[in-house]
Amino acid sequence: MSRPHSIQLIGAACGLGSPDQRCAEGPERMRWRLAARRKLHGNLVWRETVHAYAGTSRRFQHSELLAFDRQLARVVHDTVAEASRFIVLGGDHSCALGTWQGATRALAAEGPLGLIWIDAHMDAHTPLTSPSGNRHGMPLAALLGTGATAVFSVAENAPPLFAPEHVCLIGVRSFEPEEERLLKKLGVRVYRMREVEKRGLTVVMAEALQHVQNGTAGFGLTVDLDAVDPHEAPAVTTPVAHGLRATELIEVVASAARQRNLVGVEIAEYNPHNDCESRTAELIQTLIETVVAAEYILDHSVELEERYCAHNYAPLPVVLTRGRGVYVWDTAGKRYIDMMSAYSAVSLGHAHPQLVSALTEQASRLSLVSRGYFTDRLGPLAQRLCELTGCARMLPMNTGAEAVETALKAARKWAYKIKHVPEGRAQIISCAGNFHGRTIAIVGMSSEAQYRDGFGPFPQGFVQIPYGDSAALEQAITPYTAAFLVEPIQGESGIVLPPAGYLAECARICRERHVLLLCDEVQTGLGRTGKWLACQHENVQPDGVMVGKALSGGLVPISAFLASEELMSVFTPGDHGSTFGGNPLACAVALETLNVLQHEHLLDSAAEHGDYLLQKLEQLRSPFVRHIRGKGLFIGVELDTQMVDTRAVCEVLLRHGILTKDTHETVLRFAPP
Ligand code: PLP
Repeated sequence: MSRPHSIQLIGAACGLGSPDQRCAEGPERMRWRLAARRKLHGNLVWRETVHAYAGTSRRFQHSELLAFDRQLARVVHDTVAEASRFIVLGGDHSCALGTWQGATRALAAEGPLGLIWIDAHMDAHTPLTSPSGNRHGMPLAALLGTGATAVFSVAENAPPLFAPEHVCLIGVRSFEPEEERLLKKLGVRVYRMREVEKRGLTVVMAEALQHVQNGTAGFGLTVDLDAVDPHEAPAVTTPVAHGLRATELIEVVASAARQRNLVGVEIAEYNPHNDCESRTAELIQTLIETVVAAEYILDHSVELEERYCAHNYAPLPVVLTRGRGVYVWDTAGKRYIDMMSAYSAVSLGHAHPQLVSALTEQASRLSLVSRGYFTDRLGPLAQRLCELTGCARMLPMNTGAEAVETALKAARKWAYKIKHVPEGRAQIISCAGNFHGRTIAIVGMSSEAQYRDGFGPFPQGFVQIPYGDSAALEQAITPYTAAFLVEPIQGESGIVLPPAGYLAECARICRERHVLLLCDEVQTGLGRTGKWLACQHENVQPDGVMVGKALSGGLVPISAFLASEELMSVFTPGDHGSTFGGNPLACAVALETLNVLQHEHLLDSAAEHGDYLLQKLEQLRSPFVRHIRGKGLFIGVELDTQMVDTRAVCEVLLRHGILTKDTHETVLRFAPP
């Protein structure tokens, strides 16, 4: 679909077939209101109001409804054909026939459309099953090509406007058994109110958005205001108790509107005669403003980041809006395979259903109380992590850099209190090419000029040796050495693997010289290289280990420093901490992450898929490639920068639907979920 340019409001002033035909006045009332509040300007245009023919008798005539739907379909068709988004403000929900006929016809050449239908009712009666005979209760069945479609403007033998597998119904709580039977038989995904209450509207909506966008050219959203609880939206024709919260509805309308391939929105059943406090009108106005705001963000995302964010990154030219598994989608609906996984954090894939559900379940229960209290989530996570890493204790933090800082503090204190290094003399050895984060102490250890430039003075007591050289470690150790800090594979340096046996040899040296071995597994840990920890490839048990990134599958920041009993014993209450460290929300997601890693056998999978990917990349034999290396799903392709610009290669890959990023302007990273 091409980009929408403006939002066109279309009034569907029709109450034909409804128990209270005064809902036909709703759209014009809303137009006056929006005009009086000066909302109809810029991006938001009132295109037209389509009126049902007002015959002399108030008896319902099929022909009137037919003519109305045809006229509405024409206006919607022309709006969509001009690449504008529409919002239809309807009286009776039977206007859906006109709205979606217009939209599907305008996009027929691009493929089928999906539809999210939010409603208290199923609207899936046919003239044979409807107790009242009102057309009001039939539009969804007609859109799906069942029932007497000719009572609406859909031709009897025409194919259905929507395929059932592309339709989701959300929030229903009032329906007849025939309607449920029909939708079930057809295979429409129905989220009853009970399910929405249990799982949360945002979770359900996220699932529905995937559903209606899968295999379609775009999708529509139709909202019957009776989906909302009557306390918050009283002005509808058929209120039903125990509905959605207005704030929740606004939130999910925003999430739909942020999808570039949302074609248009319909908001139906506003009956101004029941709106004595204008609460429903207020809600409709907010919904319209939500769609307008989302539209503005879609069109201006890059501009806004450029204008208001610090320029400490240089992103590739793509605006991403959703992800599922190994794929992410941009705001134009284009799909990419994610070879970055957010620097190895999204190891379990985007929106993993078990992680999303652990997150929402815990978020609705308890998210943060501080470490001033015990919680029922931290202990179980600490136990699991200790078991998996062979460590005795765990100290939770939030980011990888904080876990490394924690390790540095622990090592220095251990040197003074246990090794009896004279106060102020402790040394920590790190490697050239390291990357441990961005704090002042950590960039002080870096060999990368740009990471240090302008940020000094740096703390003292750090010594640097070449990476992969165990003899250099042996030589660098002094009686003041507290620890050797090392990445088992250097990630940010360009996926650099040390010689085989390096880590085991370093471990031997550290043990013999009474020096702590600290392994930074923030990037390599938790399955990325095919083991829980990369150091386990050489059967090394470090004194301290740092994990982060993938610990919560990329959903919330959480990191941890894990250590031996002796090393962790240096911390006493008040020495160190973090407001968010160990919060129950992150712990719940981390626990679920570990479960998924284990039960889905993702460590073996990373090893297996990594071998396959490495083998296939090696077969490329490109003149631009100098070297390919990696372990598990942590692979670097080093390019010949004399021949090719690495960033330009990333941009070409982007155009081919592959997301990767260069590291150090020479190496392409392949680290998929
Ligand atoms: N340690 C290693 C090995 C890393 O790769 C990174 C980040 O890339 C960090 C630490 C810092 O993690 P964070 O960005 O979460 O602070």
